[in-house]
Amino acid sequence: MHEIKNFINGQWVSTSKTFEDINPVNGKVIAHVHEAGRSEVDAAVKAARTALRGPWSQMKLEERSSMLVAIADEINRRFDTFLEAEIADTGKPYSLASHLDIPRGAANFKAFADLMRNAPTECFPMRTPDNGHAVNYGVRAPRGVIGVICPWNLPLLLMTWKVGPALACGNTVVVKPSEETPATATLLGEVMNAVGVPEGVYNVIHGFGPDSAGQFLTEHPGVDGITFTGETRTGEAIMKAAANGVRPVSFELGGKNPGIVFADADFDKAVAGIARSSFENTGQVCLGTERVYVERPIFERFVQALKARAEAFQMGNPTDKGMNFGPLVSKEHREKVLSYYKKAADDGATIVTGGGVPDLPGDLANGSWVQPTIWTGLPETSAVIREEVFGPCCHIAPFDAEEEVINMANDTPYGLAATVWTQDVSRAHRMGAALEVGLCWVNSWFLRDLRTAFGGAKQSGIGREGGVHSFEFYTEPRNVCIKL
Ligand code: NAD
Repeated sequence: MHEIKNFINGQWVSTSKTFEDINPVNGKVIAHVHEAGRSEVDAAVKAARTALRGPWSQMKLEERSSMLVAIADEINRRFDTFLEAEIADTGKPYSLASHLDIPRGAANFKAFADLMRNAPTECFPMRTPDNGHAVNYGVRAPRGVIGVICPWNLPLLLMTWKVGPALACGNTVVVKPSEETPATATLLGEVMNAVGVPEGVYNVIHGFGPDSAGQFLTEHPGVDGITFTGETRTGEAIMKAAANGVRPVSFELGGKNPGIVFADADFDKAVAGIARSSFENTGQVCLGTERVYVERPIFERFVQALKARAEAFQMGNPTDKGMNFGPLVSKEHREKVLSYYKKAADDGATIVTGGGVPDLPGDLANGSWVQPTIWTGLPETSAVIREEVFGPCCHIAPFDAEEEVINMANDTPYGLAATVWTQDVSRAHRMGAALEVGLCWVNSWFLRDLRTAFGGAKQSGIGREGGVHSFEFYTEPRNVCIKL
């Protein structure tokens, strides 16, 4: 049986306690994962501190950037190994992981290598009271040892989205991947050794949240900042841990994102766009659309067109190239999603399609599969419309006026993303200004430029990452004022 170990100070570290890594396609155990205890977490943080004081933060910017490019190249060289590991951990289709997860994993290192090399700092020359001169200039110092806590839905992509800029800025990291998807973070350790990244710069510890590696890492006083992507409730627990020692956090949290389709939209593009935003990655995308609002004149037609899309997905072995719909990440998560399917039915929803578990042959019957599901007819107060399900489902409601749909879209404690479909450019600008979200896509969804700010408003996050915004978290700005 394959073993997944902790990666501390450039070495593979086993422990006496292991847990199972399960393939959600068929329920089979694919690896035993060595769970880090307090002592391994402590060793990882100490290794990161030593590396920070050692060669890494002292390295010339150009050299460090070249090393990040080498990491990206090495991920691409091992593309198939990363792809196989990500598919085995998540069950996501080859078609998706080969286009999104692994290429973005590599691109995150290249993008931040370039950005850091080209990022200017501010400079303010000034006159002094004695009629002399002084000059102020900004220096970006590394923040220190960064704790990186990651979710399971886009494991390599979201982890490297943090590790890339953290390393580019001269920090060292201790990564705690999700217990559901430990493989690709571990493989990245092999890449770090292969390209000669100094030991202790990148460390990986495995385990769970409470009373396990996640809690031990976030409580550790040797961690200078915590970047976290995951559920809002987990963010609250981590923020409490970070309060000890007043350590900064960067949070990318949950969402309950609206998709808004106006009658003037390009109909076919809007249907295809909402089908993607509601069902891609089996609905396990933080930016995904679980509340769809469609202008009344096209409502019935839209519901039928989205139903046809949902029913056309091909489920099966993720490595089959024609397959485009995977299982949920785990049986536990399926229980959660199915509990919302039941709530929707109990609340009197019209089930347009889906609502249960598909009938699949052979081994697949032991996987964590659910049907893509569409509801109509629920009141806006229903739990299915208020709470994040994180599954392949959406509720579609009609609306009559722009102001009405803005109010419905904003009536949520979350504020991560929105997707709006209209051909009226003035309306597009009005919606961009009115929606209380961190990311508003018009006539698109999940179209990413890594230079832009990424993150959520309200309970969907704290701070922004992406482009120079990442540098605000991963560096400590220092002003140097010199009297001339
Ligand atoms: P989760 O919050 O359950 O777990 C995320 C990570 O936190 C895991 O590694 C887990 O082990 C760890 N953890 C849990 N409790 C902890 C604790 N008390 N202390 C320290 N670490 C702890 O999230 P998940 O189920 O893995 O991911 C799904 C969630 O992530 C959804 O809510 C989704 O919206 C959100 N998400 C947000 C974004 C974004 O960019 N805003 C992106 C992807 C996912």
